Amino acid sequence: MNKAKRDAIIAGNWKMNKTPSETTALINEMKPLVAGADCKVVLCVPFVDLDAALKASEGSNIEIGAENCHFEKSGAYTGEVSAPMLKEMGVKYVIIGHSERRQYFGETDVTVNLRTKAALAEGLKVILCVGETLEQREQNITAELVAMQTKIALGGISKEDAANVIIAYEPVWAIGTGKTATAEQAEEVCAIIRNVVADIYDTDTAEAMTIQYGGSMNAKNCDELVAKTNVDGGLIGGASLKAEDFSVIVKAASK
Ligand code: PEP
Repeated sequence: MNKAKRDAIIAGNWKMNKTPSETTALINEMKPLVAGADCKVVLCVPFVDLDAALKASEGSNIEIGAENCHFEKSGAYTGEVSAPMLKEMGVKYVIIGHSERRQYFGETDVTVNLRTKAALAEGLKVILCVGETLEQREQNITAELVAMQTKIALGGISKEDAANVIIAYEPVWAIGTGKTATAEQAEEVCAIIRNVVADIYDTDTAEAMTIQYGGSMNAKNCDELVAKTNVDGGLIGGASLKAEDFSVIVKAASK
C-alpha cells in the first residue's frame, strides 16, 4: 500500500462542547497554528456551532464538518438535522456512526449505512467510524467485527461515492479513556479495513482511501501513530479542544 496516494486528515470531533462564541474564539486561536499544514485539517462541531465555525474558518485551511446527520432529507424527525441542511450551510464533512451515537442513541450498522448514503448523495464527505469494544477485542473478534461494520456501512455505495468516504478506526475502549491503541494495533486494524475496502471495490479504491485512527490521540502519542503505513491521520476528541495540542497533531501528520 502506498501512503503517498491518499490524504492524511486530522479531524477534530468537538462532541457536545463549545458554544458559538467559544467556537469563534477557539478557531481564531487555531488558524495561525495550523496554517500551511501539509495535511487536511477538519473540525467537526455541534450543529449550533456550524455557522460560527464556517465564518471563523473562512479563508483558512480549516474545513468544517458536522457530527451526525439524518438519513431522510426532511420530515417528522424532531431534533434531527438532514444532509441537505448541512450542504446548504456550506458544511463539507460529517461524522457518521461514532461509537457514542451507537452507544447512547441507538445507532446501528444499518442506520449508519442509511446516513452515509444520505450524506454522500448531497456531496458531503463522510467520516465513517468503526471499532470494537474491549470485550470484543478480548474475544479476539476485532477483525471480523470491523470488517462487518465496514461492509454493512458501505453496502450499496458505489466506487465513485466511496471516494468521498474516510474511515476512522476508533476502538471504543480507547475513546475518551486516555487508553490509546498501540501504533501496532492501530496499523493492524487500519490495514484490515483497507483489505476489506479492496475486497468490496478494488485495490486502487483501497489505496486511495483515507483511514484514520481515533482514540485518545494526543500531542504526545501522535507521531508514532500517524507514521504507520496504513494510518492516514486521526479523528481527535479531547485534544481537538486545545489549540496548541491540536496543532502538534496536525504538524505530526504533515511530516
Ligand atoms: C472521538 O471522539 O472520536 C475521540 C477519538 O475522542 P478522544 O480523542 O477524546 O478519545
